[in-house]
Amino acid sequence: MSNRRRPGILNLYTDEFLHTRAWFARRDRWFTEEHAAGRALACAGCERPADTSQLELHHLDYHGVILESGRWEAREAHEDLVPMHPYCHELLHRLIDRDAVLARNRTRRAASHLALDRLRRKLATPQEPT
Ligand SMILES: [Zn+2]
Ligand SMILES: [Zn+2]
Repeated sequence: MSNRRRPGILNLYTDEFLHTRAWFARRDRWFTEEHAAGRALACAGCERPADTSQLELHHLDYHGVILESGRWEAREAHEDLVPMHPYCHELLHRLIDRDAVLARNRTRRAASHLALDRLRRKLATPQEPT
C-alpha cells in the first residue's frame, strides 16, 4: 500500500489503528516473542542495542492490519515488524516519503528495506582506521 494509492486507509492507520488495544497487544506480543527467542533487541536503523521501552515497531507490510466492520485487528506476521528508535523510525519514514526512488517502489517492504540500508550507512558508527 502506498501513500498515494490509499490515502484514506493510511490516515486511519496513523490516527486510529496505532492507538488501538489490538495494536498495543500485538506490539507487546512481538517483544515477548523476540525475548522468548533469545534475540537481543537492537534498532533496525542505527543497529545499536536498545530495550523494549526505547523501541517502536515499523510495519514492513500492512497486510496484517485489518479494518473490518469498524473494528481494527492486528494480525501482522512477526517478520512484518521491525524495532526502531522513534528518531530512527522518523528518519526512515522521511526517507520513504520524500525519496522519489523509494516512492516508486511497488511494495512498502521493498521501499523499507532500501531505506533501512541507507539509514544504516548514514547512522553507522564510523569505523576506526586500522
Ligand atoms: Zn536507532
Ligand atoms: Zn513505520
